Amino acid sequence: MIRVNDNFGLLPESYLFSEVARRVKEFQEKNPDVKIIRMGIGDVTRPLCRASVEAMHRAADDEADTATFHGYGPEQGYSFLRDKIADFDYQRRGIDISADEIFIGDGAKSDLGNFFDILAQDNTVAVTDPVYPVYVDTNVMGGRGGKRTGEHHEGIIYIPINKDNDYIPQLPGVRPDVIYLCSPNNPTGTAMTRGELRKWIEYARKENCLILFDSAYESYIHSDDVPHSIYEIEGAKEVAVEFRSFSKTAGFTGVRCGYTVVPSVLKGKDSEGNVISLNRLWNRRQCTKFNGASYISQRAAEAVYSPEGRKQIMETVEYYMENARMMRESLAGAGYEIVGGIDSPYIWMKTPDGMSSWEFFDFLLSRHGIVGTPGSGFGAEGEGYLRLTAFNTHEATEEAMQRMHKK
Ligand SMILES: *Cc1c(COP(=O)(O)O)cnc(C)c1O
Repeated sequence: MIRVNDNFGLLPESYLFSEVARRVKEFQEKNPDVKIIRMGIGDVTRPLCRASVEAMHRAADDEADTATFHGYGPEQGYSFLRDKIADFDYQRRGIDISADEIFIGDGAKSDLGNFFDILAQDNTVAVTDPVYPVYVDTNVMGGRGGKRTGEHHEGIIYIPINKDNDYIPQLPGVRPDVIYLCSPNNPTGTAMTRGELRKWIEYARKENCLILFDSAYESYIHSDDVPHSIYEIEGAKEVAVEFRSFSKTAGFTGVRCGYTVVPSVLKGKDSEGNVISLNRLWNRRQCTKFNGASYISQRAAEAVYSPEGRKQIMETVEYYMENARMMRESLAGAGYEIVGGIDSPYIWMKTPDGMSSWEFFDFLLSRHGIVGTPGSGFGAEGEGYLRLTAFNTHEATEEAMQRMHKK
């Protein structure tokens, strides 16, 4: 028989969302009259903006006519989209990033998982704890995880995010080669300020590390001192790759489109000491293993930058953030200890009375018919927390908050 990749055997069972679904199903079967409110899923709930929908209709018509048909496009993405991103997301914010440093993909998750293709296998990796599981699992698949003891892989450096550091990752004691940072953060909902990020950039420059910066929730930022791009920090271009997505920004979780910024000044070295451009390597990797995001998705993403598109996506973001505001005020008023919900659609709450994450999950479900996500599913430091999301209607959010006030 064919031999399989042993590293898959080292992965933790990803039972978080299936276990949540199992418990919800069981509860609903026993309590058919309870209207369950789901505040656990990390997916948007509102439709695509009109501007993108109309652009997709036009793009479909393009594909129906010989004169306007688009087959294989550039692997890096169409310049109509790369130019818009460079202009709106970077140059208008005073950041010097050009279109040829932007690679369009089918979403941030794939690019985050694929990026290690161009890095040496034996680079050491640091992640935060709690963490977006993709960073850990893709490294375990790639053979950098090592043995797992309890919640941790011995090959990975874990940087705790907890009350002691106000839920902001601090510099590690042991030097990693590659550092994954996510800000605004999933799952904690907290965001790194300019000052906090500057410490990381200075560290990466001094220690020759690479930062893989996930800013999937950039459009939810409301605080003035939270940068919208890591390249707002001086010197970041030499040490950081930025991953962005239209998924949470514009409701593209089903449409699929995102992009990765690999600055042309970002360099690595090969085993012979030759200096190599990461932009060139990523380009080579994409041209070989990827045939571009679909023309229709890219036209939909382009429409996000039209005046109507920009207005429409911000209305949707504000809709969710009104839910987040409601949740923060209500939960704090009820005496819960919470963070997040200011620059992100996530609220990270401490479980009351020393309950474990799953105990509190069961309590919320059985007492109030509300579904959250147990924090322990995101890492050992997440034990004793629960994540709630603002991806819901105002009505359901309000009802959930009233239920939770009843105790
Ligand atoms: C949702 C999310 C993404 C985006 O994933 P896509 O593949 O672009 O849909 C990336 N990182 C984090 C932390 C997320 O929560």
